[in-house]
Amino acid sequence: MQSDDGAKIAVAGAGAFGSAVALRLAQAGRAVTVFDPSPPGLNASGVAAGMLAPVSEALFDPLSRDHLPLMRRARDLWPDFAEALAIALSRAGVRLEGSKAWRAEVAARLEQLGLAAGDTIAEDWRLEARSALTNLRAAAEDVGAVFDPGEVVSFESGALTLTDGRVESFDVLVLATGPGVRDGRIAPETSALAPIKGQILRTSAPDHDAAVVRGQGVYLAPGEAALSIGATMEAGRDDLAPDASATQALRRAAQDLRPGLDLDHAVVEVGVRATTPDGLPLVGWSRAPGVMLAVGARRNGWLFAPLVADMVAAYLTSDNPGPDAAALDARRFEKA
Ligand SMILES: Cc1cc2nc3c(=O)[nH]c(=O)nc-3n(C[C@H](O)[C@H](O)[C@H](O)COP(=O)(O)OP(=O)(O)OC[C@H]3O[C@@H](n4cnc5c(N)ncnc54)[C@H](O)[C@@H]3O)c2cc1C
Repeated sequence: MQSDDGAKIAVAGAGAFGSAVALRLAQAGRAVTVFDPSPPGLNASGVAAGMLAPVSEALFDPLSRDHLPLMRRARDLWPDFAEALAIALSRAGVRLEGSKAWRAEVAARLEQLGLAAGDTIAEDWRLEARSALTNLRAAAEDVGAVFDPGEVVSFESGALTLTDGRVESFDVLVLATGPGVRDGRIAPETSALAPIKGQILRTSAPDHDAAVVRGQGVYLAPGEAALSIGATMEAGRDDLAPDASATQALRRAAQDLRPGLDLDHAVVEVGVRATTPDGLPLVGWSRAPGVMLAVGARRNGWLFAPLVADMVAAYLTSDNPGPDAAALDARRFEKA
């Protein structure tokens, strides 16, 4: 299925995925409305540390270890994407700091990945997540996408129903709801999603250098307004309540790296990631008629956003969705 020029497309979710998809579809001449009841940036995309970090992810997230080539392809779309949106990319890299034993363990993992051991991962980049989301939305609006605070309940036979009672006609619904829709009702494939709560601390650290510092069990990511210290991975949880018992280990690890850090006044922000069993997003047509999926970003929603947006736009314009279509196939967890 494809959509004609001018087809009416609804996107549910204005996070990194939904906003990037809206931009690409509006640029391709589709009439796009993005529905999201949350205030802009109050989602995982706004909370994220903004790392575009294929190597760090392959090193420190066991589920991402096999996805390094794909993650690199996703990262390589960023320079052009960022430039068009005036999003600044920090290329200061990720510096590895920690005990001798931990460094040796990381060096061994680097070797397994076919990479040279060293102190800095130069090919991992970073952006400022909240302002990137603002720029993305503004760019999508500039090319005609409309943002609406409605919450999507269902999509059947072209009728999109919202919680406020509105029913509107659309040709396609792109589901980019992060962890928000996963009961299989709108699209059966969303039953494969599971939530992972993430807490991140934000504090001031004026003299922190430009590189992200990665230590055992923690990263310190410098940003415009604060240093981000992240992040917890609380599988199965989807609540947004700060929880000191879960951030204790993070605080200890950060203090070990930088004993002078002011953690007493750190602000805790919470987001919920959606993961699939293999850690890669679901992208493509659902079994539910007219529903396209762009969900399941796990820890890499920013890294994957341009790739996913390009793929969704390709599916909807009958272009080739590219070499990663099979790996991200929206229906890959369906029972045969
Ligand atoms: C602490 C933390 C740190 C992270 N750091 C990084 C990082 O450094 N690099 C990286 O790439 N990724 C990082 N991530 C992961 C990244 O944030 C997510 O993968 C990404 O934000 C997911 O984007 P998304 O658009 O799929 O979902 P979200 O950002 O969750 O957006 C989904 C949107 O859908 C809306 N929605 C839900 N249900 C409905 C409905 N029924 N109708 C309409 N709208 C609906 C929600 O309100 C929400 O705004 C981090 C995540 C956390 C929590």
